[in-house]
Amino acid sequence: MSQMAIKEGPRFGAHLSGGVKGALAHARRMGLGRSGPAGQGGGPIQIWSRNPSAWRRGSHDPQDVTRFRDGCAELDLAPLFIHGIYLMNFASADDVLWERSIEALVDHLVVGATLGAQAVILHPGAGGIQSREQALDRCALAMRRALERTEPIAGRPRIALETCAGAGSALGRTFGELATVLDLLDGHPAVAIALDTAHLWGSGYDLASESGLDATMAEIEATLPLERIIAVHANDSKAPLGSLKDRHENIGQGYIGEAGFARLLAHPAWCRWPWIMEVPGYDGSGPDAANLDTLRRLSSAGGPVAVARDQPTGGGSPATGPWPALP
Ligand SMILES: [Zn+2]
Repeated sequence: MSQMAIKEGPRFGAHLSGGVKGALAHARRMGLGRSGPAGQGGGPIQIWSRNPSAWRRGSHDPQDVTRFRDGCAELDLAPLFIHGIYLMNFASADDVLWERSIEALVDHLVVGATLGAQAVILHPGAGGIQSREQALDRCALAMRRALERTEPIAGRPRIALETCAGAGSALGRTFGELATVLDLLDGHPAVAIALDTAHLWGSGYDLASESGLDATMAEIEATLPLERIIAVHANDSKAPLGSLKDRHENIGQGYIGEAGFARLLAHPAWCRWPWIMEVPGYDGSGPDAANLDTLRRLSSAGGPVAVARDQPTGGGSPATGPWPALP
């Protein structure tokens, strides 16, 4: 009797466009899932549960939900994450916007439960002219309100606060800020953390060098329980280290580069987290087979590979924001 040794490695996936109705077609197009052309297994996915640039709720036909859940099971697309819409701002001093944001988060959590999502991933918000401290308080209070209102929901997803590049007054530029929100919530078990490689790079964490990664890990471990981290948004960056800019690039084509990603993929903590790409894609329509192939190739290299650092092209793909929105 022989048992095949399965190499433990990251599961790769992507933010899929088209929402509940279109996501599976996107997965198939990029070869993600059990039925992919190369016969690979599935991976984590992320979707919008509603139009990301409108407050209007997404309403889902129960048949679409069933089809989506069945399709995810068939293709082994898991875990599922929902990305919070852009309009929400949990740190806002404007009560109307703040209440609307909580309302929208409640809706995300309700819909997330019906879809079987593991977490709703959110940007913590921007506090404007408030002090950092006030803004962090405001964010934590918003999380608490949304959690209180969704307490009875069976299968409620967690809330994952995402690291941000930190432009302007955006919160989440440091692990310490995310840890503060967690502390203000008394370490509520439904609150988790998501990392974004492009955002970390923008906010000054040098993921591309060995010493930079060591320093980043030391800071994470000193600040946050590692098990709170439940997802990685895997994106290269078009913007320089510490620029505070959030500009996603295809894997290996930006400042983090192939060697940087290969090192992350070989790291014992990073390789356990689900990886979700939010890259522009080579034809500008989001995560694609080429990016997936790059991750798989860098991962199977088994460690940092000797790759010449290409100069970032910076202009290879349209600057349409971090990643394509719903049509
Ligand atoms: Zn992200």
